[in-house]
Amino acid sequence: MPLLSPIYKIAIVGAGTTGLALAGFLKAAGHAVDLFERFDAPRPLGAGLLLQPTGLAVLARLGLDEKLIALSSPVHRLYGETQRGTVIYKLDYRWLAPHLFGLGTHRASLFQVLYNHVQGLNVPIHTGCDAIKTRTHADGKLSLHMADGRDAGPFDLIVDASGRQSKLALRHGAVSHDTPYPYAALWGVVHDLEGFSTDQLLQRYDAARVMIGTLPLGQTPTDPRPHMAFFWSLPARDHAVVRAAGLSAWQDGVARYWPLMRPFAEQFTAFDQLTFAEYGHRVMKRWHAGRLIFTGDAAHPISPQLGQGANLGLCDALILSEALSREPGIDEAIATYSRARKAHLTFYQIASRWMTPFFQSDQKLAPWVRDRSFGLMCRMPWMREEMLRTLAGVKTGLFRHLDPGHWHPRYRLKP
Ligand SMILES: Cc1cc2nc3c(=O)[nH]c(=O)nc-3n(C[C@H](O)[C@H](O)[C@H](O)COP(=O)(O)OP(=O)(O)OC[C@H]3O[C@@H](n4cnc5c(N)ncnc54)[C@H](O)[C@@H]3O)c2cc1C
Repeated sequence: MPLLSPIYKIAIVGAGTTGLALAGFLKAAGHAVDLFERFDAPRPLGAGLLLQPTGLAVLARLGLDEKLIALSSPVHRLYGETQRGTVIYKLDYRWLAPHLFGLGTHRASLFQVLYNHVQGLNVPIHTGCDAIKTRTHADGKLSLHMADGRDAGPFDLIVDASGRQSKLALRHGAVSHDTPYPYAALWGVVHDLEGFSTDQLLQRYDAARVMIGTLPLGQTPTDPRPHMAFFWSLPARDHAVVRAAGLSAWQDGVARYWPLMRPFAEQFTAFDQLTFAEYGHRVMKRWHAGRLIFTGDAAHPISPQLGQGANLGLCDALILSEALSREPGIDEAIATYSRARKAHLTFYQIASRWMTPFFQSDQKLAPWVRDRSFGLMCRMPWMREEMLRTLAGVKTGLFRHLDPGHWHPRYRLKP
């Protein structure tokens, strides 16, 4: 570790969870940071998120976890069952350690907490900047080019945190392949009537073709009453058909599978209140192209099945900022970062790819196996602990895991 940490001029592309968290860490470490966002006003997209102890430990390092917890809803239990009442999983973070929990949060709450923090650090946020490519100069520095012809730079390092649609990752040939999943989801936010979803994520399945779920979120930025995310899985190819059939046909369909959901589904008065979210699986050739480095969903988008994407992006932000402080040069920092992230990211990329057909697919065998084995596994102590570690975001291999307590003691695995 150098006696004095090097100070760099760094551009971050994308003011999402990953980019904002990274801006917070890098600015606090003394780097000159510029954040570029394509929207005219940065804003969150989508409904809610489940944050894991890993993501919460990273937020704690920024001093932000308690602010977010005050706006959100702790999630202790996860419960999934089939329409016929077969328990598929019944898990409780507290079985891992009594102080651990997930956090159901509105995307706007997470965005606001991170955005206010970055603004408070006086990070320049350049909006309306659609970054499309970078150019490396003879001295190794880079400039960033926007779709409207503007340039920015030179920078010592450019970090791409522009999400799955990243133009930089495609442009710079870093993507090996990107496969969209055949299933997608409709997501929206509703009032949590009478504390239905308090403290637990609930899901109901019919084979893997139907998945309905609720996640408590706490407040929205404009309404202090308790809310929850409501989600409905569907084949992406059926989206237009579902919309054409009309909202009340969809609401009847929801109630047919889960009658208790009718009052929630009926809170929607137009399909436009539901976000249609498609997702995919990406494998990168490498996580950097010279001194352009890919982080968050730009580098490793995964299906939301395990609730890990934003948490992985937060971990990227912390570990990249630590590598830049520890190593004597940028290239060494990039190599250290790539090594440090490999096991964690590889585990969750494989696990989410492997799990998705059990919960969202046209397959018959995978949900048949699921209905007969997952509930049993939840009752076997070793399997249950591994399932909980997977959920908590700490796995780095089949028999290995990290401890978010190294990042912040509030989220250590042992009491
Ligand atoms: C339905 C669904 C449910 C999910 N549930 C969970 C969950 O429970 N828990 C969890 O951890 N994760 C979940 N995820 C995943 C999570 O949403 C993502 O992993 C996370 O948002 C990635 O953050 P990011 O900052 O890397 O990218 P993004 O959130 O995509 O942010 C990218 C930012 O870059 C900007 N941008 C894009 N292109 C450009 C450009 N060319 N120039 C400049 N700026 C640009 C965008 O406007 C945006 O602000 C879910 C995803 C989906 C779809």
